[in-house]
Amino acid sequence: MEAVIETSNLTKTFLLGDTVVRALDGVSLSVAKGEKVAITGPSGSGKSTLMNILGCLGRPDAGDYILAGEVVSRLSGRRLAQIRNRYIGFVFQTFNLLPRLSALENVELPLLYGGARDARQRARAALEIVGLSERMGHGPNQLSGGQRQRAAIARAIVTDPAILLADEPTGNLDTKTGQEIMALFDELNAQGRTVIMVTHDPEISAQCPRRIHLRDGRVAELMARESR
Ligand code: ADP
Ligand code: MG
Repeated sequence: MEAVIETSNLTKTFLLGDTVVRALDGVSLSVAKGEKVAITGPSGSGKSTLMNILGCLGRPDAGDYILAGEVVSRLSGRRLAQIRNRYIGFVFQTFNLLPRLSALENVELPLLYGGARDARQRARAALEIVGLSERMGHGPNQLSGGQRQRAAIARAIVTDPAILLADEPTGNLDTKTGQEIMALFDELNAQGRTVIMVTHDPEISAQCPRRIHLRDGRVAELMARESR
């Protein structure tokens, strides 16, 4: 299987006062194209730090990250942003929608950075895919939590990225709404997108064919891929 994500020996430390926090301590992993992977582990185990690096939002101190065949671990600034825009859709626990913009305008944003001319039309199509056509003129504070996360997912897929990363996407939702969001990720994964999501919820990670467990910034166990 072709690996779309490959890391070797990623490390990342933070300075907290005069304490060095080793957030990632040699993470090597590989994710094949089209896989759906859950990243689990206790709070503070490095999940978000890893996701930020995988999503090209941050860089490791050392180690390699190869994304779609290109070494990106030492890229910075503009070039890293271009790679992110091309390959990655990122979904956050707290949605991170801009409060003064409508759902439609929020979803358009990534396309406007890229200078696309058909932004409005593509944003509408993305909102339709997530089932939010009726609400696209509403602002985030006029939407329920589940609807906000749908809008955020539309924003993540509007550039048609090969990889969807989600950091605790159901963490702020009730169980039923969380399941609906999971079903949406399943659909997007079935269409061929690689999905990697952090979750605390054992019920949700159980629904992923593969789980990568982090502990103290290391991969603690890598369960065998089961066939779907
Ligand atoms: P998780 O998402 O698994 O809860 P994180 O990746 O957020 O874990 O954090 C891993 C460790 O790195 C924690 O000890 C956390 O306090 C520390 N950390 C993360 N980001 C920063 C930062 N920006 N500054 C200082 N310490 C950080
Ligand atoms: Mg986290």
